[in-house]
Amino acid sequence: MMKNKVIPDVNQNHWVERSLEAVWHPCTQMKHHESFPLIAITHGKGPWLYDDKGNALLDCISSWWTNLFGHSNPRINLAICNQLEKIEHVMLAGFTHPPVVELSEKLSALTQNHLGHAFYASDGASAVEIALKMSHHFWQLNNKPSKKKFVCLENGYHGETLGALAVTDVAIFREAYGSLLQDVFTVESPDARKAKFGESTEEIAKQAASSLEKLFAQEHQNIAAIIVEPLVQCAGQMAIHSPEYLRRVRALCNQYDIHFIADEIAVGCGRSGKFFACEHAGIWPDFLTLSKGITGGYLPLSLCLTTENIYRAFYSDQTKHGFLHSHSYTGNPLACAAALACLEIFETDNILEKNLIGAQELANAFAWAQTDSRIEHWRQQGMILAFDIKNDSLKNSATFPREMFSAGIDEGILIRPIANTIYVMPPYTLTSSQTLQMGEAVQHALNRVLT
Ligand SMILES: *Cc1c(COP(=O)(O)O)cnc(C)c1O
Repeated sequence: MMKNKVIPDVNQNHWVERSLEAVWHPCTQMKHHESFPLIAITHGKGPWLYDDKGNALLDCISSWWTNLFGHSNPRINLAICNQLEKIEHVMLAGFTHPPVVELSEKLSALTQNHLGHAFYASDGASAVEIALKMSHHFWQLNNKPSKKKFVCLENGYHGETLGALAVTDVAIFREAYGSLLQDVFTVESPDARKAKFGESTEEIAKQAASSLEKLFAQEHQNIAAIIVEPLVQCAGQMAIHSPEYLRRVRALCNQYDIHFIADEIAVGCGRSGKFFACEHAGIWPDFLTLSKGITGGYLPLSLCLTTENIYRAFYSDQTKHGFLHSHSYTGNPLACAAALACLEIFETDNILEKNLIGAQELANAFAWAQTDSRIEHWRQQGMILAFDIKNDSLKNSATFPREMFSAGIDEGILIRPIANTIYVMPPYTLTSSQTLQMGEAVQHALNRVLT
């Protein structure tokens, strides 16, 4: 028999209770909300989120890695309002509009025109689907139809639609949805944490690349592309690798005629310390996906950048040789206007230079964790800082992330550990004292959970 629903009184706010009745939340076992809090956010300003009880939370993870310049940023707000007065949306088939043109030109320029063609979608997973489909279609158009398998990395994450999920290596996803997914090759991750005493992260990268070479040598006739998260496998517990891996993958892809897809959805837009993470390796991929930070966390927008060579292969009199993909909101003008405002902030405020200082402040704020005996694998890449809690320090590894989240809330911070990995990925606009405050609050939250 169905339990009688207790209908929350809609005349009172009761956002949490009403949400638990009516909203099915992502990445959540809803029953866990019986014991850990769902939080109703009513407004935000800068790095602060405010709940319906008036509590302030410091957003240490940029609201799932999207928010680069703080909440309710006046410049991005204004750009969206201005665009709203002109045109909110128009279909991008048969039409174009100034924001999408300007954004595409600016992104092309940021790649020194190596990736001069931008194809748009709305979420990260869709941008990955686009890269996979384009690569697949390219080989068909080039009379190499056997090249249709994809190579992905152990511990990689590329989104949760079926194509993107196929190249994602997360055990519980593969268990639940594996039978829906195409077959892929999964290769060794160059995760620097694999380095044994005295071994360099570069050696780990070389080993991973040499096992990739064996696969390429055997299977290249059947392989369309390899997809990699450059420098940091973010959802995979912020596993960092040496840029040497990217250089080797680039060289192997050239040698064996395989596309290189760089998924920069999380590490792009300055997060790694350069605008694109691939720049640390001095290479360009054949496809580069962006989303998350591109609108500063304002509006859903994603895109796949690609080369002249790929674009030309589709250019034909025949409709079926065109790229066959569309979304209703492709290249939405409001989202493009938000993205342009972000790129302008990068330029006028010298964000990449400022982040060099920001990254140093981040390291200082978490210096305590480098010498904490409960912690291992302290690591940082630009504006991402992470470390792991040693297994024997954890009381309950299954509940640790939720307990840590709750302890963070009690300390006034939003953090969301991934398994035993605690990480921060803050907005680029934190002040020095907010950064210190974040480091201390994480330490206090950890002490609450581990003692
Ligand atoms: C988040 C993420 C995606 C998926 O983006 P969505 O917008 O959540 O679909 C894909 N790749 C990487 C590397 C990501 O971090």
